[in-house]
Amino acid sequence: DEKKPDKWVFSTCGYCGVGCGLYIGVKDGRAVYTKGNPKHFVNKGTLCPKGLSEHQLINSKERVTTPLIKKDGNLVDASWDEVFKKVSNEFKRIAKESGEKAVGVISTGQLLTEEFYTLGKFVQLGLGTNNYDGNTTLCMASAVTGYKQSLGSDGPVGSYEDFELADTIFLVGANIADNHPILKLHIAKNKKKPNIIVIDPRASKTSQMATTYVPIKPRTDLALYNGLSYIIMEQGWEDEGYVKANTNGYKELKKHLQNYPPQEVSNITGIDVKTLYELARQFGAQDSVLTAWTMGVNQSFMGTDTVSAIINLHLLTGQIGREGAGPFSITGQCNAMGTRESGFTSSLPAYRNFGDEEAIKEYAKIVNVPDEIVPRERGYKYAEIIDAIDRGEIKALWIVATNPLVSFVNQNKLRKTLEKLDLLVVQDAFMSDTAEIADVVFSAATWGEKEGTYTNSERRCNRANKAVEPIGETKSDFDIIVEFSKYFEGVNELLFPKWEKPIDAFNEFKKLSEGQLCDYSGITYELLEEHGGIQWPCNKERPLGTKRLYSSDIAFRTKDKKANLLCVDWFPMAEPVSSEFPAILNTGRTVEQWHTRTKTRSIDILNNLAPEGWVDINPSDAKVLKVKSGERITISSARGKVEDVIVRVTQSVASGSIFVPFHFNTQLVNTLTNESFCPKSGEPNFKQTAIQLHSD
Ligand code: SF4
Repeated sequence: DEKKPDKWVFSTCGYCGVGCGLYIGVKDGRAVYTKGNPKHFVNKGTLCPKGLSEHQLINSKERVTTPLIKKDGNLVDASWDEVFKKVSNEFKRIAKESGEKAVGVISTGQLLTEEFYTLGKFVQLGLGTNNYDGNTTLCMASAVTGYKQSLGSDGPVGSYEDFELADTIFLVGANIADNHPILKLHIAKNKKKPNIIVIDPRASKTSQMATTYVPIKPRTDLALYNGLSYIIMEQGWEDEGYVKANTNGYKELKKHLQNYPPQEVSNITGIDVKTLYELARQFGAQDSVLTAWTMGVNQSFMGTDTVSAIINLHLLTGQIGREGAGPFSITGQCNAMGTRESGFTSSLPAYRNFGDEEAIKEYAKIVNVPDEIVPRERGYKYAEIIDAIDRGEIKALWIVATNPLVSFVNQNKLRKTLEKLDLLVVQDAFMSDTAEIADVVFSAATWGEKEGTYTNSERRCNRANKAVEPIGETKSDFDIIVEFSKYFEGVNELLFPKWEKPIDAFNEFKKLSEGQLCDYSGITYELLEEHGGIQWPCNKERPLGTKRLYSSDIAFRTKDKKANLLCVDWFPMAEPVSSEFPAILNTGRTVEQWHTRTKTRSIDILNNLAPEGWVDINPSDAKVLKVKSGERITISSARGKVEDVIVRVTQSVASGSIFVPFHFNTQLVNTLTNESFCPKSGEPNFKQTAIQLHSD
């Protein structure tokens, strides 16, 4: 009874894009418990280890409890007025001397939609810089641009219900057992005993769920999907009626795919020709085929086109817009979707395009601002912001709730680049690696201390409530942005008139979304609690939301309402192996930790399960290296080395490949990763790096 909560507060998990419903148990004003919401569609009461221990992050010893300012080389406590004055004065000085665009901002899918919308509006219309991006570019950007170029708009097409209804489920470059564990429940509910086909170079935990595991050579996936489309056309397994009525580009694609005959694709991918035919046959023979992917596809220098190659398969066979079918990108962060829709990074709010004059004027009218201050084009993407700092073009950087000094590629270079800034501001709830080198830290409240909404992978908007008061001198990100805007003449009055609470931002965003594909206009906070989340589009005609996009009554968002079958090409690896660096490093995640561990590194139960980074090595490679499980090695690449990495000898990686999780600053694997990016999405190619192993 000592620990029994006084009350339970309805909320949503703030870690991954699955979007589990939960309750936060509160006793004497402190969060003491987390339990799953048994009525929530997504998780039916279950939670993964991170969700179960989530209340512990609120009182973590890593919290930043007061604003900080650097004095004599040390970060010391400061008042909010002091840090707001310092940063606003510096932003104004830099804007005057070098232009407004000399200020860059990087934010995150960890923010609530209300906060993300407010931040984007302030940065783009208030500070006047479009050099603004989010860590979605490290995660979902390829899915965003792939959906846009193939279907005319961003937006995952499916529902978790489709895992329950599909005849065949392809999981490609997706280790859901570690990264989206609760999705397994939806597959388990499928009464059809579906074929579960896992395609991945690494036999991850997810491959143990497979009916067929297909190992594939690293970064050859685009060639595979082109090859499957070739076979589908060769065998006449297309849905001709669907293709004719709903797509453009069939003839061009057929001609283009002559470059991808089965034997050629087999040589590239390492998958035998018979298996290629069996994989392609699934699309033609089964009523419903679902393809779900995550970072294995997105984090690639061909990420956008790989997404389109997957979508081609579904368009050719009409496996889209129906129960159990569709190309489904599973998101990473809890609010990766809400941040995509509320915009100002890859598009203007509610999927309005930069450069669309009509859409810009419409936006300006709805929010009552002069349209001249709305940006006409997207500014620099994440990596371009870093390059612009390196060149001296961007002089101040404001980083919100993300930690590039663990998560970005080529860490040694990044650290040197960030040192060139006149001003680095970090807004975070935790003392991250990046916050440690900041000039100013805005101390933010975290999950459970603030309110708003998150939208999950299946477009389900969920309610996150405040359970306890923000710790110490912390403020919600919403409050920080609105209060900071008052230090810029006229900005608060123009952008946030009478805004007091996150719902003011939510209501404005709802208005902006009306009539758009991502229509939130029918959603209210009350409805979200009543129904355990609602999937957009939700409006008067669809008061309880929409399970899947592009069914008969939702057209593709291209001009002629037809989807694009696209001719996309496979290229060899961005950084080939060599005699100096003969093996390939793959990076990823583990269920016990969250991204750069700012939230999870002081939660004992998680750290006891996964205390440090490790390296998976194939037994034959371990033999050559003369190392055993439990021993430690060094890994090097052309950019640096990581020492003291504990070895796990395992068949889960092929000879010539290794795997290291990216979470740990103690084994900082992004020291090794290379700077190659998808030219369309800007997403880094985290997954293949040429490396050498050294036994110590
Ligand atoms: Fe949270 Fe994701 Fe785990 Fe669900 S699966 S409890 S959303 S981290």
